[in-house]
Amino acid sequence: MDTKDLWRNVLGEIELQISRPNFLTWLKNSELLEKKEKEGLVLVSLPNNFAKEWVKNRYHKLILGSLRNFDGSIRNVEYTVVSLTTPRTLSGIRTKQPLASATLTEEKTQLPIVELKIDPKTNLNPRYSFNNFIVGTSNELAFAATQAVIKDVGKKYNPLFIYGGVGLGKTHLIQAAGNAIQENYGGKLCVLYVTSEKFINDVVWAVRNRRMEDIKKKYRDIDVLIIDDIQFIGGKATTELEFFYTFNALHENSKQIIMSSDRPPAAIPTLEERLRSRFEGGMIADISYPDYEMRLAILKTKTKNQGLNIEDKLLEHIAAKVQKNVRELEGVMNKVAFYEQYKNEKLDIKKLDEIINETIQVSAKNITANEIIKAVADFFEVPQNDLTERSRKQEIVEPRQIAMYLLRDVLKLSYPHIGERLGKRDHTTAIHAYEKISKEATQNPGLNQKILLIKERVYKG
Ligand code: ADP
Ligand code: MG
Repeated sequence: MDTKDLWRNVLGEIELQISRPNFLTWLKNSELLEKKEKEGLVLVSLPNNFAKEWVKNRYHKLILGSLRNFDGSIRNVEYTVVSLTTPRTLSGIRTKQPLASATLTEEKTQLPIVELKIDPKTNLNPRYSFNNFIVGTSNELAFAATQAVIKDVGKKYNPLFIYGGVGLGKTHLIQAAGNAIQENYGGKLCVLYVTSEKFINDVVWAVRNRRMEDIKKKYRDIDVLIIDDIQFIGGKATTELEFFYTFNALHENSKQIIMSSDRPPAAIPTLEERLRSRFEGGMIADISYPDYEMRLAILKTKTKNQGLNIEDKLLEHIAAKVQKNVRELEGVMNKVAFYEQYKNEKLDIKKLDEIINETIQVSAKNITANEIIKAVADFFEVPQNDLTERSRKQEIVEPRQIAMYLLRDVLKLSYPHIGERLGKRDHTTAIHAYEKISKEATQNPGLNQKILLIKERVYKG
């Protein structure tokens, strides 16, 4: 079988297994470029980076499985981009390009995304700026605190601790702060942005290679230290200690520290007390879910900035449906733009819903009841058994109700099942718990925050 026939057969199989719009959107215009006999490797082309990532993440297993059905010598698939030179139509006519250029066009994406370079000195990405950061009720405190820090570096709010859920703009905000400081002070202040993983790696490396001096020099010789996702530092003793020294050294010299975290300091379970109290000694501000107006404003600004043309009606629908994550908002928006651009077809609401469901599903898939129960137990630091057995301890009441609520809210399990799972309770207990927590969460921000934090852990896995 030549590669063309092989691919035709594979697509024939896959077409039966995924939805029609998905097939048309992602695979119709793919091609099998080459089979490397020796390595058992085939190279599949997609029209742009976006499709490449999408196919790789969602359909790789399916594709590999199907390829192997037809040709057992195939062991792996690689994906590459062959960009189009002519506008694509549904019939998929396009100019062919030789394989050599196929491998070279990797980075070319058809969506008008501006390529911006990360500054190697500061690690800041210029894409994160205040010019494209929308401020609304969900982030105005965090925004205001950041502005105050920029005006008065190292003095006013130190450290600045920003926390909030996944995809709500923490990285954007703290990087924008770094960029603004660079700009406002004409590069006179030394700014460094690192993820906490990077910091942890640096410390581990230095310990192993007996180069602690390097670390000290690198991290204590700066004016503004920005650390992203600091929650990961919890529980890593050496790193925490080194961070503690770094923190003190900077703080004593009125150097600014800005941190982000997915939860408030008090909710980082393994964080050492002395670090926690240091974090709490500055300014803590949260970012919560954007409301509808803000979501729409984000969509409108982003489509405008990227020169995308999407009908207001569709944007409003996206804003109404995608509520919890700005990254998902962007994801849906890009897919819609992609769809309309490459299919030459206007989306209707039904198709849009499909796109939305796919995008949101990605984060909700594979979550099990066990993971939820475990996340709740971890969060409240109670034994998992206390939640699942008949325990009547007072301190279990709230965690168990929250667990019941989440099993319903996230997994849509039946009430009898939930009751059985959590303490062998009657289904009416589960209904009561669900209704109580749903209602209270809207009135009690503390409870709401707890639920969000637990959900994030569940989604992050
Ligand atoms: P987090 O670090 O909280 O997980 P990010 O900062 O990575 O989230 O934000 C996710 C995406 O959403 C980024 O592309 C970011 O630019 C965008 N984004 C988030 N909040 C806003 C906002 N208020 N205005 C504009 N874009 C935003
Ligand atoms: Mg982030």
